[in-house]
Amino acid sequence: MEDPSLLLKRYLELEKILNDFCANFNYCLPMCISHELKTNKFAVGCCKNKYYCKYDLDIPSYELLRKEREKIYGNPQKYSHIKTTSPCEYHLPEGCALKTHKSPICNAFFCPEAISFLREKYKIFNYDYLGIYYGLEWTLDGTFNENQYNEFKNDLMEINKKTLSKIMV
Ligand code: SF4
Ligand code: SF4
Repeated sequence: MEDPSLLLKRYLELEKILNDFCANFNYCLPMCISHELKTNKFAVGCCKNKYYCKYDLDIPSYELLRKEREKIYGNPQKYSHIKTTSPCEYHLPEGCALKTHKSPICNAFFCPEAISFLREKYKIFNYDYLGIYYGLEWTLDGTFNENQYNEFKNDLMEINKKTLSKIMV
């Protein structure tokens, strides 16, 4: 098995690409969260469970992800006094407290509406959230070898490039 630190390093590189992609895509806040905030004091979006751990595996690289997350952001209990309608403690009224070190499902998921928008506006037809979820999981659990990881990383960079080129025009 690969060194958990190396697997986490690869995973965080993919997360960075996905974070850039989300920032370029910029769908959730204007199209979902801000509407919820207008009608309801709290926005939940799709954070309707404790997804920071729900699908995580019980292996060293996931454990390291959790440890590093808690070192930076604190443990979930630190946030449990904050009033929110999401069962996830990391969900603050204005959104997720975690800017990095999220679990694979939190990094990969988009609802059908967001995926339709990606198709219509950006002509991105290959954002398959389950596929991306498994790509992230297989990076972190070491199923992917280095070549497979690099291929997956290139696929994510290509998707990100498409959102970026739309912004630049
Ligand atoms: S960790 Fe963040 S993204 Fe994941 S469920 Fe909680 S609030 Fe949502
Ligand atoms: S993925 Fe969909 S449900 Fe989740 S926050 Fe974005 S728009 Fe809302």
